[in-house]
Amino acid sequence: DQDPRIARISSAIRVIPDFPKKGIMFQDITTLLLDTKAFRDTIDLFVERYRDKDISVVAGVEARGFIFGPPIALALGAKFVPLRKPKKLPGEVISEEYSLEYGTDKIEMHVGAVQPGERALVIDDLIATGGTLCAAIKLLERVGVHVVECACVIELPELKVCIPIISNTNMLSEL
Ligand code: AMP
Repeated sequence: DQDPRIARISSAIRVIPDFPKKGIMFQDITTLLLDTKAFRDTIDLFVERYRDKDISVVAGVEARGFIFGPPIALALGAKFVPLRKPKKLPGEVISEEYSLEYGTDKIEMHVGAVQPGERALVIDDLIATGGTLCAAIKLLERVGVHVVECACVIELPELKVCIPIISNTNMLSEL
């Protein structure tokens, strides 16, 4: 049976057709943030799942991973590490390139933010192709971090909310 909190979370997410371009059904989580109960429930669901998993790092993917990641990190007693778009981080970075429908993109992380052997949870708002999360996993694994799971609020293309939408590293690497 599905957790009853999920229906409320799902209905608090607004879908805007044809944004930012025609054919995209944009999943707008800003309306979820306006519903204080649904927002809290979202964070709680993640925290309940990861509480006993010995997570020392929550890595959030820019930009909406920066909204959900920090409250989860605080509740787990883990540090928060932002994975940013290129040229945003001021210090020395390592970066991982990934392909988009047209062209490529990159995510970057500060050198020294994580240590080999740490256990990470990667957070984003939504998984579509999984390309972004795959790049996040590769980046963390390159510096010796164990990615325990990736979790998102929304999964596409089914457009159903599944919390957490997870795959383990091996499953995601196959995408
Ligand atoms: P992907 O790398 O294909 O899994 O795409 C996931 C990333 O793109 C996430 O960071 C999402 O925030 C963003 N994204 C992709 N499709 C949508 C959508 N329909 N609505 C909102 N965000 C999306």
